[in-house]
Amino acid sequence: MKALKMVWVGIISILAQIIVLSTNFNAQFGFMVSLQKIDRQVCPICKRYVKHSSRYPNYVCRQCIQLATDKKDKPVHFFNTEFSGHGCAGAYTRTGKPYNSNLCYIKGIECKAEEAYLGGIVVNLV
Ligand SMILES: [Zn+2]
Repeated sequence: MKALKMVWVGIISILAQIIVLSTNFNAQFGFMVSLQKIDRQVCPICKRYVKHSSRYPNYVCRQCIQLATDKKDKPVHFFNTEFSGHGCAGAYTRTGKPYNSNLCYIKGIECKAEEAYLGGIVVNLV
């Protein structure tokens, strides 16, 4: 009888630990999930989640920037003109020739490339 009682006590204490662990899990990870929701937004082209930016609420994700073309569907890319991360210029990806516009088209949607606030290039919907 005593042995059976010990088994029950063991089972109950394990159950209690599981309950404590699972509530901790919810408290910690539920909070993280809600943080992530605040901390992200959607790429306007492909609808993938990207890091939230209050300055650029409609910036295009890196994968979509790779698809940028001119009006005639020729691939273009944009880069900083200075090593410090400033300036923005475009070029045709295949030929390397200058592309004299900040406008580009991604899946037929008009976008505009510009120097990002803290350096680098950001592409936004027009
Ligand atoms: Zn995208």
